[in-house]
Amino acid sequence: MGTYRQTVVDLDASAQEAVGWGSRGRDWLESEGFIRPVPWREGVVHLAGPRWRGAVDLVSWDWRARIEELEEEPGDEVRVVTGRTAFFAGQADPSSAICPHCRSVTADWPGAAIDTWYTTGAADLDCPACAQRTPLPAWEWTGDSFAFAHLGFEFDDWPPLHPQFTAAFAQALGHRIRVVTGKI
Ligand SMILES: [Zn+2]
Repeated sequence: MGTYRQTVVDLDASAQEAVGWGSRGRDWLESEGFIRPVPWREGVVHLAGPRWRGAVDLVSWDWRARIEELEEEPGDEVRVVTGRTAFFAGQADPSSAICPHCRSVTADWPGAAIDTWYTTGAADLDCPACAQRTPLPAWEWTGDSFAFAHLGFEFDDWPPLHPQFTAAFAQALGHRIRVVTGKI
């Protein structure tokens, strides 16, 4: 079965900002009622809050969420991931990089640049179509299947997040986001 993971990735938070911006994002989610803190062992986890329905697209989800009285809530916690991370959609079709300048799709897998980015935190990728050299995190991916960033909010086994919710979340963060979705 696997886990259906949707990660709202903050594309702009730097390595230094990630922890602070992660708290800021979590505080917003909590104050809006989308998540709630629940004591767990020595710490706290964040599960769906009283207004979780406002974050998701109920129409495309299954019948359970449309029953208002039902206590049913999305399955798993919302986690804040910080640090240099290649956020990956999971078992999707093979994805290709899209040049942010000319929108050409590059068939070659940029393995070397990804390795370099993982090791050093910086890597550039040449576009074979327009010859522009662009930092790896600025590239887009078919199916939004990747994001190279330092901060992400993982929603595990939630219904599809609503575009209005993710837009409001981006506004609260004051950063660009990308939603990376897939089975892991
Ligand atoms: Zn290009």
